[in-house]
Amino acid sequence: MKTQTKVVVIGGGIAGCSTLYHLTQEGWSDVVLVERNELTSGTTWHSAAQVTNFGMNQTMVGLKSHSINLYKELSEDPEYPINYHHADGGIRLANTEAQMEGYRHFASMARGMGVEFEVIDAAECARRHPLISTDGLIGGLWDPLDGDIDPAQLCQSLARRARMAGAEVYRHTPVTSLTQHRDDSWTVHTEKGDINCEIVVNAGGYRVNEVGAMMGVQHPVMSMEHQYFLTEPIKAIEDAGHRMPLLRCPISDYYCRQEKNGLLLGFYEQSCKTWGMDGIDPKFVNALCPDDLDRVTDVLEGAFKRMPTLMEAGIHTVVNGPITYTIDGAPLVGQIPGKRNAFCIIGLRAGLGEGGGHGWLLAQQIVHGEACYDTWCIDPRRFTGHANVELTALKAIEDYQNEFRFHFPHEHRPAGRPMKTTPLTPILAAEGAEFTTVNGWERMDYIKPTPDFHPTLSYKFDEAFDVIGAEVANIRDHVGLTEVNGFNRFEISGSGAHNFLDRMICGQVTRKTGRVGLGYLLNHLGMLKGEATIANLPDERIWYGSAAASEFHDMDWLQAHIQVGEDVQIRSLTNEHTILVLAGPKSRDVLSAVSRADWSIEAFPWLSVRQAFIGIAPAVVMSVSFSGELAYEIHVPNNQLYAAYLALRQAGEAHGLKLFGARAVETMRLEKGYLHWKADILTEFDPFETGLKRFVKMDKGDFIGKTALAARMANGPTKQLATLTVGCTHAPAHGGASVMLGDRVVGTVTSGDWGHRIGKNLAYAFVLPEQAAVGTDLTIDILGDLVPATVIETGPYDPSYGRVRG
Ligand SMILES: Cc1cc2nc3c(=O)[nH]c(=O)nc-3n(C[C@H](O)[C@H](O)[C@H](O)COP(=O)(O)OP(=O)(O)OC[C@H]3O[C@@H](n4cnc5c(N)ncnc54)[C@H](O)[C@@H]3O)c2cc1C
Repeated sequence: MKTQTKVVVIGGGIAGCSTLYHLTQEGWSDVVLVERNELTSGTTWHSAAQVTNFGMNQTMVGLKSHSINLYKELSEDPEYPINYHHADGGIRLANTEAQMEGYRHFASMARGMGVEFEVIDAAECARRHPLISTDGLIGGLWDPLDGDIDPAQLCQSLARRARMAGAEVYRHTPVTSLTQHRDDSWTVHTEKGDINCEIVVNAGGYRVNEVGAMMGVQHPVMSMEHQYFLTEPIKAIEDAGHRMPLLRCPISDYYCRQEKNGLLLGFYEQSCKTWGMDGIDPKFVNALCPDDLDRVTDVLEGAFKRMPTLMEAGIHTVVNGPITYTIDGAPLVGQIPGKRNAFCIIGLRAGLGEGGGHGWLLAQQIVHGEACYDTWCIDPRRFTGHANVELTALKAIEDYQNEFRFHFPHEHRPAGRPMKTTPLTPILAAEGAEFTTVNGWERMDYIKPTPDFHPTLSYKFDEAFDVIGAEVANIRDHVGLTEVNGFNRFEISGSGAHNFLDRMICGQVTRKTGRVGLGYLLNHLGMLKGEATIANLPDERIWYGSAAASEFHDMDWLQAHIQVGEDVQIRSLTNEHTILVLAGPKSRDVLSAVSRADWSIEAFPWLSVRQAFIGIAPAVVMSVSFSGELAYEIHVPNNQLYAAYLALRQAGEAHGLKLFGARAVETMRLEKGYLHWKADILTEFDPFETGLKRFVKMDKGDFIGKTALAARMANGPTKQLATLTVGCTHAPAHGGASVMLGDRVVGTVTSGDWGHRIGKNLAYAFVLPEQAAVGTDLTIDILGDLVPATVIETGPYDPSYGRVRG
């Protein structure tokens, strides 16, 4: 066994084998995989191993396409061919129009990744799958490349190729502990000896938290028991003359695929069970949980109705095994929060289908620092401090129970709520607030017109449309107040703080006390990594503000770049303060009524910051705006938040102050041309492509990503972020929708909503540069219809900024 290597991957299931193989593909051959038993002896050996192309966003679709292409190539390897039923096709069923709308959106989104799904009616479903009845069925989504693979052969094939490229695999080598050294390198202690390495990867499957504990980390991953059974041969299948397509049913919560000449039927029962919460027997190897078909009778009934032939089929094997879930259903693939040189590929609930792609994106991150797609949707840092075991269990159960029921826009499921609140949450609830969740924070979405107001879940504009419109109108004409909790806030101090930020941010960073600026952080490839508001407070303190979910992500990035001996300290204030936003032409009057300071335009112009009292509550006030109106961000410590809120509410009465929520903010920022981190600001694009030229200063000193950005500039943009008006009134253009020129995909929508102040349906989209000129006519595939769209100037509302400056 080697005693020194570059990377040690812990775990020999699909996650570990795929990572090892892809590390060699990215050019690193001095890499090792250690497995406590045999390869695939965790969950992988008994997987139903369906391989679908379906995903909820373009990153997921892209990584699944990678799996499919790779598996096809492996299956055709003349020296070691593996069993892969490629392109049997699969149907996701639907019994509501709303589901069909969702499928139409997913088809539009996947088209941008070169994947052609088809939305088909019930009769066509039955034509393609002759065993199903069309009772109560409306139709479904057809995935032409759906199939299944032999999981053990797949892992052996990946390990074999990795070995051929120089990697080594040590079986029967349990990792017992991990030691991290001062230089961030690791020693992996195993029962067979120590291996020193630069980087460790946790691919421990359901033992994720045993491996996590070895580095002092609790991952938000939970195992659920999951069952399927295999039937005896079925005559109709033997006679069909073709393989049956796969089925996934959100109506009765099962999946079904052909296995030999019978069927494999898997269940997502409502009375589901977590597994291994209080520890896992070390001898649980190549093992299963006891069968429990009683738990799935409700699901079985639905499956029998859909496929009556099942009732006559004998069951010959039941499989019940642990399957891992996370808080939002997507896995954790990337850097482990708060750790250096430590990565994970865990929480895979569809690891056979996705594993090829996840290993690919992880290997790219390890070797190059970033993957070809933006990986935020699978980034382990997307959850922060609230992501504990109990919450993970509740969300895992909820997700399991809704396995095939995708989230609709504005849908926020109830399990584990409220997670993170402020003293204002119950006050706002009593005012009639509906809440969205942002990284676990309960954030006001809008004020409900009646207590029983529940808009329909839909991809179209819902019943809240006019409610949002009224909130926006009040902000435009008078003044509105909202709470923005969870906003990420670091205090950066030390004599080196400004020089440090100059290096981190690609633009001019203001150093003047009392001033605020917006800055963008690039990675080493010159692509957009982050966005931060920099506010200079007295006493050489800098407040770094960024999106609510970015706390762990930004902290890791900033900490990793403090140089040895540099006098820079970073302290998170994220959970200590909350922002009250006052927006609208009367906001200065309200502020002046509650605070003795001079808030005139001369004394406190746009982009100023100062400490002040709001009534009796100490606050940091910034004159910044995300709405396009005169606005103030009032940062208040949580213990005096209610006092500040009361003072503002009372003073606001004379000026028509009303509450507003996150949905009003979303529409207003689109009208104003402002961007959202991880919707419009992605690692796939550089700041020039994203329309942020004014925030880049190539003639300042060195900054991270400068060299790479200069090289990219020489080549010109690959895509350009454009603002479009959308020629329909029934639905917004959702993120992911394809922008078309004729029948050619020329772009992808990142955000879309109705602009209530300008009375237009708006969208942002990355489009080919030749289609980005103002006036260009295109179409957007919105829920299956090609809707006319025209490129306009970004920020159509108040282009002179007169309202913001007040
Ligand atoms: C019944 C069932 C059906 C499924 N059907 C599908 C499906 O149809 N399609 C699909 O895509 N997915 C399916 N899945 C999910 C899929 O099987 C898993 O996502 C996948 O197998 C997880 O792979 P993994 O490598 O993350 O974990 P595992 O396969 O569990 O591998 C982890 C490995 O780490 C090793 N390990 C742990 N601790 C240590 C240590 N200390 N030292 C060394 N090694 C260690 C373990 O021995 C194990 O081999 C199914 C799961 C179940 C239970």
